[in-house]
Amino acid sequence: MAERTLSIVKPDGVRKNLVGEVIKRFEEEALKVVALKMAHLTKDQAQGFYHVHRERPFFDSLTTFMSSGPVVLMVLEGDGAIKKVRKIMGATNPSDAEPGTIRKDFADSIEENIVHGSDSPENAGFEINYFFNALEIFGR
Ligand code: UDP
Ligand code: MG
Repeated sequence: MAERTLSIVKPDGVRKNLVGEVIKRFEEEALKVVALKMAHLTKDQAQGFYHVHRERPFFDSLTTFMSSGPVVLMVLEGDGAIKKVRKIMGATNPSDAEPGTIRKDFADSIEENIVHGSDSPENAGFEINYFFNALEIFGR
């Protein structure tokens, strides 16, 4: 079933010139980019995005990192898009990630792990609406 998910090339991915590489890996797996833009998040915006993690010990460091430079925000559409993106990304900690995943190939640490992908339909809905309005999404 076609679904939508939100992905982010995080500030480390942009700094490392991996924007094209990340999008290429998604497109190669038949995911379609239906919305795309850059933003430099404020700390408040990063905290709002990651509010589910607000009680976690890494929340302050994570939201400082996520507001440390521009990011690329995108909505991807395709069959099983949420799980597919998570598989292409690899495990949160790059040392646990499968070979050939984005995080295994490029991430430096559990925090600076290049890419974000929604983890459920509920969170995908929240995350897409957090960054994009209906007129910015080009379903096809
Ligand atoms: N993170 C961290 N330390 C941890 C766990 C997570 O810095 O121990 C960061 C990391 O950047 C991760 C983000 O917080 O991508 C969100 O965590 P989550 O568990 O949702 O991982 P993800 O869904 O991104 O794999
Ligand atoms: Mg997550």
